[in-house]
Amino acid sequence: MSARVPLIAGNWKMNLEEWAAVELAGSIADGLPNGRADVVVCPPFPWLTPVSAVLEGSRVALGAQDCSDEPSGAYTGQVSATMLNGLCRFAIVGHSERRRDCCESDELVGRKANAALSAGMTPIACVGESLDVRDAGNAIAWVEAQVDAILAAIPGDAIGRIVIAYEPIWAIGTGRSASPDDAEEVASAIRARIAEADPAAAETVRILYGGSANAANAASYLDTPNIDGLLVGGASLKTDSFLEIVAAAG
Ligand code: PEP
Repeated sequence: MSARVPLIAGNWKMNLEEWAAVELAGSIADGLPNGRADVVVCPPFPWLTPVSAVLEGSRVALGAQDCSDEPSGAYTGQVSATMLNGLCRFAIVGHSERRRDCCESDELVGRKANAALSAGMTPIACVGESLDVRDAGNAIAWVEAQVDAILAAIPGDAIGRIVIAYEPIWAIGTGRSASPDDAEEVASAIRARIAEADPAAAETVRILYGGSANAANAASYLDTPNIDGLLVGGASLKTDSFLEIVAAAG
């Protein structure tokens, strides 16, 4: 495990009714083990306010699942980073489900990361390859290009404030997690890419793994030198499994 403070992030996606989101947040806050990990939960937009009330005074931070790249204006259905900043410390940007379902490009994801930073939030910028790309031996080059687009969109002095989540698409929600060695290989390549832009920032940027992470496999990722935390989907929807993952982070 690295010296960087681990980050465990729960992505609740479009799940949970309001009462269930509030109950889950409360039981996570109540059961949080003492430890050094930063913990964040990312509910659907309408549940941010009720969940924030439950988390007040706890060590569990709130994150948004997305934000607009635009500050305001005629963007029906979008939510700006400045609107979220009062509630959220983190914003996920570029999740592969949004890249797939909303046709989000690498450039748009970079602009969203920049919008989150400008509003004072920490973007958790997601990158990751499809199975076809991996099978063709191009996973690292693919992910490097996605990282380059993020780095190109943000000011040089903000690089140290981003979080990158390496989430191979084929591992998300499939139960087929990447091997810790494969995930570490990509995380190491991401850190090297960041180091080309800013060697000091590369030492501080947290790189997460996401893709069927669970209580049983969490430690195997967290024990690698370049993976500093986990972005968790399915296993973040149950108090026990999420808290076991948090405990694995120390
Ligand atoms: C995710 O949606 O970011 C994710 C990693 O999901 P899961 O843990 O369910 O694979």
